[in-house]
Amino acid sequence: MTRRYDALIIGGGHNGLTCAFYLARAGLKVRVLERRHVVGGAAVTEEFHPGFRNSTASYTVSLLRPQVIADMRLADHGYRVIERTISNFFPFPDTYLKLGGGTDRTLAEFARFSKKDAAAYPAYDAALERVADVLRDLSLQIPPNVGGGLTALAAAARQGWPIAKLDIATQRDLLDIFTKSAREFLDGWFEDDHVQSAFAFDAVVGNYAGVSTPGSAYVLLHHVFGEVNGKKGAWGHAVGGMGAITQAMARACELAGVEISLEAPVAKVLVDGNKVAGVLLESGEEVAAPLVAANVGPALLYRQMVEASDLPEDFNRRIKGFKTGSGTFRMNVALSELPDFAVLPGKEKAEHHTAGIIIAPGMDYMDQAFIDAQQHGWSKKPIVEIKIPSTVDDSLAPPGCHVASLFCQQFDPALDWDAHREEVADLIIDTVTEHAPNFRGSVIARQIHSPLDLERKFGLIGGDIFHGHMSLDQLWSARPVLGHGDYRSPIGGLYMCGSGTHPGGGVTGAPGHNAAQAILADRSLVSRLFRR
Ligand SMILES: Cc1cc2nc3c(=O)[nH]c(=O)nc-3n(C[C@H](O)[C@H](O)[C@H](O)COP(=O)(O)OP(=O)(O)OC[C@H]3O[C@@H](n4cnc5c(N)ncnc54)[C@H](O)[C@@H]3O)c2cc1C
Repeated sequence: MTRRYDALIIGGGHNGLTCAFYLARAGLKVRVLERRHVVGGAAVTEEFHPGFRNSTASYTVSLLRPQVIADMRLADHGYRVIERTISNFFPFPDTYLKLGGGTDRTLAEFARFSKKDAAAYPAYDAALERVADVLRDLSLQIPPNVGGGLTALAAAARQGWPIAKLDIATQRDLLDIFTKSAREFLDGWFEDDHVQSAFAFDAVVGNYAGVSTPGSAYVLLHHVFGEVNGKKGAWGHAVGGMGAITQAMARACELAGVEISLEAPVAKVLVDGNKVAGVLLESGEEVAAPLVAANVGPALLYRQMVEASDLPEDFNRRIKGFKTGSGTFRMNVALSELPDFAVLPGKEKAEHHTAGIIIAPGMDYMDQAFIDAQQHGWSKKPIVEIKIPSTVDDSLAPPGCHVASLFCQQFDPALDWDAHREEVADLIIDTVTEHAPNFRGSVIARQIHSPLDLERKFGLIGGDIFHGHMSLDQLWSARPVLGHGDYRSPIGGLYMCGSGTHPGGGVTGAPGHNAAQAILADRSLVSRLFRR
């Protein structure tokens, strides 16, 4: 094995690319090893039917950190995000609710259901913003390594200080968000089921849980810490689909000197003593390097790529218990026409077609979806978000036609999905058709991703869209395991840089950024010691 690289990155997802970029910019010789024929991981755009392209998995952008966008100069490489006029459209059996489009519109919309809720909204929005600001600040910081001595204590104090300075009301909100269910949290603010549902949906996205499950309020917060073009909390469409983001990242990497190898699956992490030595590719080739950063999730890395004998026993036990499986089912459909909703008729493009269209009519509906999934494997009445990106981006579908992302929640990750995927895909299409009667007839083609398909295609264990549950026991310093929340693994020179680390899933670039800072800090410490 000849050593030609300072660092290898296992996986060319957006975090792997981000980490590679920062390391290369600091002068390291970096090689990214990606299993698929395309970089981007869960953030890719692919053709799924002749003439129809869509973001294959992840489909909407907000959480990508502005600092990462600026440092990688993504705008120079084609990154552009379109905001939508309204953010969401919720069809209910006999009415609808539109969310977004400015505070005045939102207040008027809520007032149709409850004047009290409309009055409560500004204070709710401000409270959530204050709490989201805490998360924004923490997102690009390395969590203190519990048990890591004085440096960790100093980091804990530094990161805890802004929280300690918050007023008591915000500290209470923070506690609520981290400990309560979405239902309990929203009950404290709103009375109307339509209004509550509009906010609670975020709590079940990528979260195999009901709105009454303790801790589900945090996932709601995780979906609002982003921003689009400087607008806090907004979500937008990346022109060209999510793959445009990762293609821009790949260009930034290449300009920084990163070597990217496609169709180069890693089989094993090579360890010599207690230090990483490189990786073994599935092709049998060994690639040597003193640093390896894994973009794959902790469950894949530590259960399949690292020999258990190279890891401490307690660590292995904890990783065995690391929870994955977001219960997500994801389809792409090619459409001959736009859905014609019974509660808001019309097939001509209107603002609600450009929004995130969310079928989750009621808090009980969302809880029932989870109960069904636990009892029968999937919900009889699924939660479905429909995004039709071709309404704002004509590069994705032939003229007159459309593509839609169907993002569906509450599907048992452990089910034998090869036996059930088509049946469930039909159920999802029927569910949309109940609200938009022309939908089934408009589907020209469909691409199905059950939880098992997500695992096979993207290496997401249990189909987990976040590389692991976003529950309190798996966040911040405890992501993935207490003592290793700082991107460092138990093996010298082996780091984690993917969504299975702080601040978790979503297209943020934060784990990649932070892991690179940890690696560079360790290198500079080593070189300082060496110079002495
Ligand atoms: C269906 C779905 C919908 C989502 N929707 C959104 C959304 O709309 N907005 C949002 O912000 N987030 C969304 N997410 C979450 C977000 O996309 C992910 O959290 C994020 O993209 C993960 O990025 P990552 O770089 O950490 O890991 P990944 O993207 O998972 O990258 C890991 C990389 O490792 C590669 N790999 C796997 N095994 C090997 C191997 N053996 N050797 C080499 N390489 C390997 C994979 O191919 C992949 O490229 C969604 C995710 C999914 C799956």
